[in-house]
Amino acid sequence: MAQKLQAIKGMNDVLPAESHQWEYFEGVLRQLLADYGYQNIRTPIVETTPLFVRSIGEVTDIVEKEMYSFVDSLNGDSLTLRPEGTAGTLRAVVEHNLLYNATQKVWYMGPMFRHERPQKGRYRQFHQVGIEALGFAGPDVDAEIILMTADLWKRLGIDQYVRLEINSLGNKEERAAHREALIKHLEANVDILDEDGKRRMYSNPLRVLDTKNPALQEMADSAPRLYDYLGEESRAHYEGWKAMIAALGIEFVENPRLVRGLDYYNQSVFEWVTTELGAQGTVCAGGRYDGLIEQLGGKPAPGIGFGMGMERVLLLLQEKNLLPAQRSVDVYLLQQGEGAPLYAMQLAKQLRDGGYSVIQHLGEGSFKSQMKKADGSGARYAVIVGENEIASGQAVLKPLRGDVAQQTVALDALVATLGGLDGQGE
Ligand code: ATP
Ligand code: MG
Repeated sequence: MAQKLQAIKGMNDVLPAESHQWEYFEGVLRQLLADYGYQNIRTPIVETTPLFVRSIGEVTDIVEKEMYSFVDSLNGDSLTLRPEGTAGTLRAVVEHNLLYNATQKVWYMGPMFRHERPQKGRYRQFHQVGIEALGFAGPDVDAEIILMTADLWKRLGIDQYVRLEINSLGNKEERAAHREALIKHLEANVDILDEDGKRRMYSNPLRVLDTKNPALQEMADSAPRLYDYLGEESRAHYEGWKAMIAALGIEFVENPRLVRGLDYYNQSVFEWVTTELGAQGTVCAGGRYDGLIEQLGGKPAPGIGFGMGMERVLLLLQEKNLLPAQRSVDVYLLQQGEGAPLYAMQLAKQLRDGGYSVIQHLGEGSFKSQMKKADGSGARYAVIVGENEIASGQAVLKPLRGDVAQQTVALDALVATLGGLDGQGE
């Protein structure tokens, strides 16, 4: 027997019963992004592997073990399904010279791919919406991004379930000074380090602090803090950012261990975290990456951005019952008899031109069974045409909610009659 065809583990279908939830969330996001002056950018889902290795960093979870990389059998190129959105976005910005005498505020939304162990809130194909604000040195834009994300939680009704954590990673020199002290601390604790920790303690010691291993929390908490190594400029940036967030009335906690899992970050970093989703608590994460554009071959320019895990936000919205019901059509159009399918189709077109969405009953079926479908569709009105109505140029209009009686209406009066019923607050 042929093998049953199935989706790849960790890659989910979004079925019609759920897709309206995505559409609702996407709609709120699009409005928010427009309100803050961001423009959409769409880049390929596949890029060359070196782009991700160079921007994300060799010694990171993503590059070490999570990338879907493959050889293009036609020319031998190494390609990778994008694990995040910043690298491709910046590649496009540099390639098309979008920062020539200009700044850019762009957003993207779409699937990302990481080979991880699938579990609630963690998948192999997942979706991110993200922004990049390019050419702004901050800290004002850093604060505006916090304002925008806080605004999103309010619009979605989940502001009481998320918490903002922030930190500063300083600049390269400051991180180098801190690194030395950190390696000493790791060396002193080498006996308790796990495999990742031992491997990274020299190649990427900051990342060791990012560990989720419970046995290492105490070691990480007592590690030297980057803040103590910040120079005047970095301190001023960080303090300026904090002052603006505080003045905007947005609560935050400083988390000295917040280092982010990707190499390209510097200065301001942040995460929005919820305690409502178990271990997969980070719903939005981002920060500043002032050296990345140059690293990808562009003229030096500052940048900051975030990526938001859309499934995690949707899970939270589902758990809190904050998603709208499935959208249903306005009218279910029942038809039966000689010439009725075509007659109904023309009538449906007339209703749609008048601004009403319509499901026309297709195929055969008794009026009784069609009415069951009409009820099940959630439509507000049934419009019924049979041979009598066709002969007299009329249709029966039956409100499916409330107790307004059905009436027989001339075809050219149907849209106006529906409008009248809607106007009564039906
Ligand atoms: P985590 O610590 O949960 O692995 P991360 O640091 O790897 O997250 P980022 O690379 O910062 O995540 O991606 C930004 C956001 O994308 C995360 O905060 C999360 O909401 C979401 N995300 C990341 N990986 C996944 C995944 N495998 N499945 C679903 N959402 C994800
Ligand atoms: Mg991860």
